[in-house]
Formats: sequence, structure tokens, C-alpha cells
Amino acid sequence: MDWADELAARVHGPQVVNDSKTPSGTVHVGSLRGPVLVDVIARALRARGVETRYLYGIDDMDPMDAQALLTPDAVEREMGRPLAHIPDQEADGHASYARHHAERFVATFERLGIRPDRYYWMSELYAEGAVDPTSGSPSTGRSSSGTSTAGLPTSATPTTGTR
Ligand SMILES: [Zn+2]
Repeated sequence: MDWADELAARVHGPQVVNDSKTPSGTVHVGSLRGPVLVDVIARALRARGVETRYLYGIDDMDPMDAQALLTPDAVEREMGRPLAHIPDQEADGHASYARHHAERFVATFERLGIRPDRYYWMSELYAEGAVDPTSGSPSTGRSSSGTSTAGLPTSATPTTGTR
């Protein structure tokens, strides 16, 4: 029994496993560590018959910071803006800087056999009011069964792939 099997043996009831990434620039191969580990956990849970949902989020409302691999003038111009609101620096058809980097990253998942049940984009959840504490939406992060849902609306859809 390896570590993931031991982890899976300790839980009770349906489980949600979740990982996320801030698309702050060109994604290093080491960023696959999270999705791979969470995929292993999801597989171990399912192997034990545990109802499991694997969610993967894109934290595209995080602000641009100096670590992003933009030109110095672009960093200065876009500093502090949400990544989802910054134009794609390569003008190759993505809706934003965040979409450019995130879509390229998550496109690698399929080739590794990593298939989250749902991708969610924080820019979409913010726009829907799903993270607004006064909205009365499922932002409490708890369903009636007590399973953590991270306040995700059921309308979120996968948006993988490059264009
Ligand atoms: Zn692009």
C-alpha cells in the first residue's frame, strides 16, 4: 500500500479533490507536480470505491506581479491587474494573458492521462457572483451532504485546449 492508498483508506464519504494554478506566465514543467499528485489521490480514492470529484481551477483573478515573464514595459503597465484582464501578449487568439498560459498548460493534462471532472476559472466565478458572500449562492463551500464543493456552480464547463 503506498501513500495515496493509505490516504484513501482514512477518508469517509464522498470526496472532492482540488488543485489550481495561477497563470502568471510561461508554466514550468514542475507545475505539473500538483495535478499529477492530485490525480494519483483521485485514482486511489476511486480504486477504493470512494465517490470522488476532481476539480482543477485557474486562479486568473490573481494580480500580475514582477515574476511574470512579460517585457519590462508590460510588467510596469499591467502590474497589479487581474491576469484575466490583461491582453494576450502574443495575439494568437486567446482571450487574455491568463487564457494564453493556462490553456497551454491544461492541454498537457490530457496527454498525461489527467482528466479533472471540471475546470473552473476564477474570473467566471467572480462574474457569476459565486464568490460573493452576500449572494446567497453556494459560496459556503458546503453541500447538504457536507462535501466541500468550493462554491462551484454546476454551470462551469471545461475549457481546455489551445487555439
Ligand atoms: Zn495566446
